[in-house]
Amino acid sequence: MLFYFDPNDQQESMKLIENLTENAGKIQQQVLKDILNRNSDTEYLHGFLHGVRDVHQFKKSVPVVDYEQIKPYIDRIANGEPSNIISSEPITELLTSSGTSGGKPKIMPTTAKELDRKTFFYNLLIPVMNQYVEGLDEGKAMYLLFVKPEISTPSGLMARPVLTSYYKSDHFRHRPLNKFNIYTSPDDTILCPDSKQSMHCQLLCGLVQRKEVLRVGAIFASAFLRAIKYFEDHWLELCTNIRTGQVSKWITDDRCRSAVLKVLNKPDSELASLIEMECSKDSWEGIIKKIWPRTKYIDVIVTGSMAQYIPLLEFYGGGLPLISTMYGSSECYFGINLEPLCSPSEVSYTLLPNMAYFEFLPVDHDYEEAQALSNGSLSSLQNRVVDLVDVQLGHCYELIVTTFTGLYRYRVGDILMVTGFNNAAPQFQFMQRRNVVLSIDTDKTSEEDLLKAVTQAKLLLQPHGHILTEYTSYAETSSLPGHYVLFWEVKAKGGNEPVNKEVMEACCMAVEARLDSVYRRCRSRDGSIGPLEIRVVKCGAFDELMDFCVASGSSVNQYKTPRCIKTLPAIQVLERMVVGRFFSREAPFWEPQR
Ligand code: AMP
Repeated sequence: MLFYFDPNDQQESMKLIENLTENAGKIQQQVLKDILNRNSDTEYLHGFLHGVRDVHQFKKSVPVVDYEQIKPYIDRIANGEPSNIISSEPITELLTSSGTSGGKPKIMPTTAKELDRKTFFYNLLIPVMNQYVEGLDEGKAMYLLFVKPEISTPSGLMARPVLTSYYKSDHFRHRPLNKFNIYTSPDDTILCPDSKQSMHCQLLCGLVQRKEVLRVGAIFASAFLRAIKYFEDHWLELCTNIRTGQVSKWITDDRCRSAVLKVLNKPDSELASLIEMECSKDSWEGIIKKIWPRTKYIDVIVTGSMAQYIPLLEFYGGGLPLISTMYGSSECYFGINLEPLCSPSEVSYTLLPNMAYFEFLPVDHDYEEAQALSNGSLSSLQNRVVDLVDVQLGHCYELIVTTFTGLYRYRVGDILMVTGFNNAAPQFQFMQRRNVVLSIDTDKTSEEDLLKAVTQAKLLLQPHGHILTEYTSYAETSSLPGHYVLFWEVKAKGGNEPVNKEVMEACCMAVEARLDSVYRRCRSRDGSIGPLEIRVVKCGAFDELMDFCVASGSSVNQYKTPRCIKTLPAIQVLERMVVGRFFSREAPFWEPQR
C-alpha cells in the first residue's frame, strides 16, 4: 500500500495525491484486507476472529478499544514476549506518546516498515508546498528539530518519541538530499541529546546562514516559540560566537560542536553587529523577517491547542503566513493540509487512505457519545462507527485507527469535524482532544470551550499593551465552593508594565461570560461554583512547567502545554511563580433555556 514516487517530480506527485483521494474508499478496503491478511493469526485478532480474515467479521467482532485494553499486550512485548501477539511483522521499537495513562506516557508499537510509510508521508508535503510557494529550491529551511534520550524496555526494545525515532533513523539521516530538503541545522545538532546545546547550535547555524533561509519552523508552534524565547535570552552570546568564529565553551557535545564550527567557519563581526542591532531594539515585532529576510512562511502546527500561539507568532513573524502542514501521532501519521496557505482557523487535513484503516465514531456537538464510550457503555454506539468515505459534512467524529503496526480499532482520542471533500477523501478540522475538561459541579468545560473563552477575554489586554503568551487551568476544589483557576503568563509588548487589577478582573468576568450555560447556571443560580480566578505568573513560568513535564517523561518536540493541569506537583510549579491573583467580581449572566 505504499506508492513510490519522486517528490521532485511535481506532476507525478500531484497525480499520486489525486489518485489517493479519488480512490480513498477502495484503498481503505485494500488496507484493511492487507492488515487482516498479515495479522489475523496474531493472538489479539485470533481471539476475536478465530482465523477468519473477513472485513465484515472484523467490524462485527473486533471491539473499539482504548489504551487500557491494549496496554497489557504492549507491556508484554516491552517485557520480552514475541511481537506476534499483536503483529506478524516484528515490533522494532516502542513510541512514547504525549498522552498519558496512569500518569505515564502511553507507548505505541511500531515496525521498521513504518519508517517507509512516514517517509512517504513527509515526501508528499514537498510537492504540496511547491504548488503554492515558488522557489523553495533556492535556499534552506531553518527547522528547529530535537531528539529526546530514549529508554530501553526490559526486552531491550527502545522506547522513544516518534520524532526522535524518525530523526535517528537512516531514513532521515541518509535521506536523499534534494533542493527542497536542505536544512540549516546539521544533523549532528538535531541529534544532540542535550536540548539546550542543540537549541544553541541550531540557532547559531540558522543565524550564520540567514541569507539562505527561505522558511523557518518546528513541529509545533510551542517549540518554535521556545526557540524564539531562547534567542531573546541569548542573542548577545550567539552574536559573540559569530563575532569570534568560536562556539561557546559550554557546548561540549563533540559532534555538535564540530558540526557547528564547520558552518561558523570564520569570525564575522559584520553579521554579529547587524544581528545585535536588530535584537537590541525595544520591540521584537517582526523580528523573524528582519533576521531572516527571505523567509516566505513559518512552518509550525497552529491547530488544536496550538491555536493560542497564533497572535504571538504573528507578532514575531510580522505577517508571515503560518502553515500547518500535517496531522499525525505516535499511533500513525494521519493526513496533510492540501491548502497550506489558508488561514490558521480554516486548516483542514485530508487523511491519506493508505496510512492506516480509519473509522469514525459519530459524536454530537457536545461530544457526548464519545464521552459515553469512554465511560464504558460501549453498547450500540460501536455499530454506529462509519468508514472514511461515509462521514458527513459538518459532522464531528472521534478518530479510530487500525494500523499496520498492531493497533486494531484504537481510539486516538481526537475529535475531528468534516469540513469538505477532496475528491472522495474527506477533509477534517481538528476540534479537540477528548476528555480534557474542567469540572466543579455538573459543568463540563472542554479544552475548546476554554480556548474560546480565553480568546475573547485576552482581547481586553491588548489596549493596555499586554499579550497573553500561555495559559492553563485547574479546578480548585480544596475549599467550597470550588472554582476555576486559570494561570496566565502575560507579556508586556514594550517595557515591563505590570498588569492592571481592573483589567484582570474584567478578564475573569469575560472568561466566565463565555463559558457555557451549565457553568453559568452553577455559578449564578446554584452558587455551586465560586468566582473564577486568574493567577498571573512571572514570564518563564510555562517554560518551567515544560521543563517539569519533560523531566517527568514528555518529549520536547511533542510537548504541548496542557490546558488543564491535574497533578499537584505541576500546579505547584506555576504556583511558585504567581505574581498576582484576580477574581471575577460578579456572577455571569444566566437565564433558563427554553
Ligand atoms: P503524540 O502521539 O504525542 O505525537 O500526540 C499526537 C496528538 O497530537 C494527536 O493525536 C493530536 O491530538 C495532536 N496533534 C498532532 N498533530 C496535530 C495537528 N496538526 N493539529 C492539532 N493537533 C495535533
